[in-house]
Amino acid sequence: MKPTIGRHCPKCNYFSSLEAHQGNYSCPNCTQHWGKLENLDNLFDEGCPFCPCRQFYLSKNFNQALGCAVMFLGIIFVPWTYGLSLPFFWLIDLVLYKRVKSIVNCYRCGTEFHNFNYPKRLKTFMHHIGLKYDKYR
Ligand SMILES: [Zn+2]
Ligand SMILES: [Zn+2]
Repeated sequence: MKPTIGRHCPKCNYFSSLEAHQGNYSCPNCTQHWGKLENLDNLFDEGCPFCPCRQFYLSKNFNQALGCAVMFLGIIFVPWTYGLSLPFFWLIDLVLYKRVKSIVNCYRCGTEFHNFNYPKRLKTFMHHIGLKYDKYR
């Protein structure tokens, strides 16, 4: 899977997903220049290429509807399995969730980095850090 970058254009608010490459990025819709990505390998140490932010958080591109559908099946089978279907389907849910790769998000501009190799130190969203960047969104 190729690394891609998805973001809302700060000017026209159009969401686009671009293949990651070294160099300049601009909006495919309004041609607004976004910024320059110097180095794909240490992107998360250098900071976001599109804004002055150096903090990132992880999120999962997990299909909530699918997760709910699996749990729902588990509930349907309860009368026949004496409730054993619940932990079973919960496990399926967990496996599905684990298989989904994490997306790295910029705290400040919300840019999504898909299929990137990211440093282990990155964590999921922290509310107290998010608050700091609230005013930029
Ligand atoms: Zn634009
Ligand atoms: Zn950013």
